Amino acid sequence: MNTTTSHSDTIELLIDLVQRPSVTPVDHGCQQLIAKRLEAHGFNIEPMRHGDVDNLWARLGTEEPVFVFAGHTDVVPTGDESDWTNPPFSAVVKDGHLHGRGAADMKGGVAAFVTAIERFIQSGQSFNGSLAVLLTSDEEGPAVNGTKKVVEALDARSEAIHYCVVGEPTSTTTLGDTIKNGRRGSLSAKLIVQGKQGHVAYPHLADNPAHKSFKMLNDLVAIKWDEGDEHFPATTLQISNINAGTGAGNVIPGTLSVEFNLRYSPAITTEHIQSQVAALIEEHKLDANIEWHDSAAPFLTPTGSLTDAMREAVKSVVDVSAKLDTGGGTSDGRFIAKTCEQVIEFGPLNATIHQTDERISCDDIDSLSIIYENLLGLILGTQES
Ligand SMILES: [Zn+2]
Repeated sequence: MNTTTSHSDTIELLIDLVQRPSVTPVDHGCQQLIAKRLEAHGFNIEPMRHGDVDNLWARLGTEEPVFVFAGHTDVVPTGDESDWTNPPFSAVVKDGHLHGRGAADMKGGVAAFVTAIERFIQSGQSFNGSLAVLLTSDEEGPAVNGTKKVVEALDARSEAIHYCVVGEPTSTTTLGDTIKNGRRGSLSAKLIVQGKQGHVAYPHLADNPAHKSFKMLNDLVAIKWDEGDEHFPATTLQISNINAGTGAGNVIPGTLSVEFNLRYSPAITTEHIQSQVAALIEEHKLDANIEWHDSAAPFLTPTGSLTDAMREAVKSVVDVSAKLDTGGGTSDGRFIAKTCEQVIEFGPLNATIHQTDERISCDDIDSLSIIYENLLGLILGTQES
């Protein structure tokens, strides 16, 4: 038996990427490696480092429309490496799967779109517009100096993006079953209610902020914000932290702090949420201070040329009818959606992301690469040849 296994070009690239321990915000040369490959195909390479974050903008062509593959080269920490069956950065291929941190989230998607681009260009077919790649090493971290900054820089020089596919792992049961065409927004608040500290035996000398807040909080969690719509579930609010008291059993607390988070649909605005909460504070006559943090605006890409082409490309390779979905957490798609009307996310299975023994099927990654290549033909390809 032959002991040296040969892998596809995509899997070879994925092995090289996984072997680089690029825990946020460290890129560990992943982007340089990809930049070199794209440069060899005529791409204009523009590293955009902000703070300690490496970003890459690579573009081929000057025409419009501009099609972008986007993704991140950073990975989440491994946790205790001894919990892993194979060392997390060894990129071992076993039983048809490539094992390692980032294999699924999302170096698999990145490797697949890089080789898809290479084959698309090598095929020599003429295409309309430009082809670009946007990479960051700050998706799993604070996401301050990453995709957001690149999009702002492009916008500042009026460089438009018309179509964007983020190669995040969106498939749930089989490759191709789910395309994300939007995400809910995330809005957090920290509410501090003022009272007056005192002895529990002398309540008339104190003012208990806990007692004052319960009715208001009860009303807050009972609010029906919206009904949701055909694309989004109804907005939800969850209290994540409540704190009051000194720890002593005989002291009335001086303040009470409450943190809550809303996952909201585009049917509602943050201004509306904030004014409703302010009205509630007023109604209950609380001496309160509230700080808001709008961590992610919602976005939606309606059914259209990009979702149709993505579904067609999936169908042509793996014979799966992909469904459009807006569930799950936030992603960098939210930043790109600020200036690009058609942003979707599509990639391999997400069953093992952020887990020990993260892994991805090699066949799936090879199929994914062909799906991406077909998508390029559908979006940018010209009929005449
Ligand atoms: Zn990811």
